[in-house]
Amino acid sequence: MSGRSLFSRIPAVDKLLSLVEAQEGTPSLPQLLITETVRQYLSELRSAAQSGKDPGELEAILREIETRLSSLASTRIQPVINGTGVIIHTNLGRSPLAPSAAQAVHEIAQSYSNLEFDLPSGARGSRGGYLEAILATLCGAESATVCNNCASALILILKHLANGERSEVIISRGELVEIGGGFRIPEIMETSGATLREVGATNKTSLRDYEKAIGPQTGMILKVHRSNFYMGGFVDEPSTEELVALGKEHDLPVIEDLGSGAMIATNDLAPIPHEPTSREALQRGIDLVCVSGDKLLGGPQAGLILGRKDLVQGIKKEPFFRALRCDKLVLTGLQATIESYLQSPSGELPNIPVPHMIAASPNDALLPRAKRLLRKLKDIPAHISCEESIARCGGGTMPQAEIPSISLSIAPKEMSVTKLARLLRGKTPPIIGYTADDHFHLDLRTIRPDQDSLVVESLQEILLSTDRKSNDVSP
Ligand SMILES: *Cc1c(COP(=O)(O)O)cnc(C)c1O
Repeated sequence: MSGRSLFSRIPAVDKLLSLVEAQEGTPSLPQLLITETVRQYLSELRSAAQSGKDPGELEAILREIETRLSSLASTRIQPVINGTGVIIHTNLGRSPLAPSAAQAVHEIAQSYSNLEFDLPSGARGSRGGYLEAILATLCGAESATVCNNCASALILILKHLANGERSEVIISRGELVEIGGGFRIPEIMETSGATLREVGATNKTSLRDYEKAIGPQTGMILKVHRSNFYMGGFVDEPSTEELVALGKEHDLPVIEDLGSGAMIATNDLAPIPHEPTSREALQRGIDLVCVSGDKLLGGPQAGLILGRKDLVQGIKKEPFFRALRCDKLVLTGLQATIESYLQSPSGELPNIPVPHMIAASPNDALLPRAKRLLRKLKDIPAHISCEESIARCGGGTMPQAEIPSISLSIAPKEMSVTKLARLLRGKTPPIIGYTADDHFHLDLRTIRPDQDSLVVESLQEILLSTDRKSNDVSP
């Protein structure tokens, strides 16, 4: 075919746009984005035609555009149902917020607020003052503040305590960890301008190792909680109390990056290990602790810095603090979350999803739900049963904690497990599970009970639909 006739087979933008809009499968996206996607593809076809490539039939062009639009639409942030059994799933947004936190964010988002305004005097006020007070109360800290996330909390602490003549930070080789998402302790330290002074061996570090490294160049001693891995066997390290005493003796602050942010004893919630809390670290004499807001704490993404007042005040004066501060929606969500902890009657869990999900009893809470789901799904063409499963805290916390759980296990009779998983991900809201032993699993621990009916509906729609073969031929 001649170059000219290849070009003549490329449809005009306007014609294509009206066809795309008329198509049933076109996702609802901003008009300009659809136009831009169409233009982009047509310009690719024109370049290809220049090198003699046939643009293909109109049908194929339309299908390709629909694929591109759907793939774009799928990246829009939207709620999903988490059937993975991983409670703090980093890819799925870590902690869902408490209803009170979501409500508070909803109200503040649409209104002006006293974010930095002192109501009694009518003058400028301090940002997050009340939040800092309730955080300190909850964690038994002298003082507290918040920033963007735990990684930035650590950077701020390093910038404040390890600089100039005293830029060295002493850390055990067993704690030079990668937390995930590219967060590596040695690199964070470098970024902050601190000098790493590694001591001990991977599996064993003694108090003497720390002591030998102390000199006029030392700024602080850092302890990093091994939140996402564990060490066993021939291992040893000094206790927190010993490190704190060493710090005192040499007038050096001892800092702990705890990460997980547990506020409640995890071993009281489920048959899992005890995760150290900020309160415990501070009681042992740690000068400053930093934790995440959206891990076991169950709040929005934030970094909490807790401990000695002079150090917290100093950190807040760092110029960099301004760059890492939280916005009003985060501060509001965190404020409501911390209030939930403080206001929950003793012996009762705060109304926050993460602790409730960890604590849900497999036999009393999850199994009855699973049985109800099974009854509703008895007519679908699949082998489906409820099974014991293992749920996890996730999000780089408590790698050893296996929480006994209950999941629905599904093997469709007329389609592959992979295809079922894909079709469920394409639903609104998307449903995410996992595949094991040739079955698709949905762990009930991470699915909100009010989402059970959505799971039933989506499974029925996918597995009972009569035109599924004509619509979707891929495996
Ligand atoms: C998760 C974690 C971090 C990073 O926290 P973000 O809030 O994601 O920045 C840092 N340190 C430890 C020990 C962690 O577990």
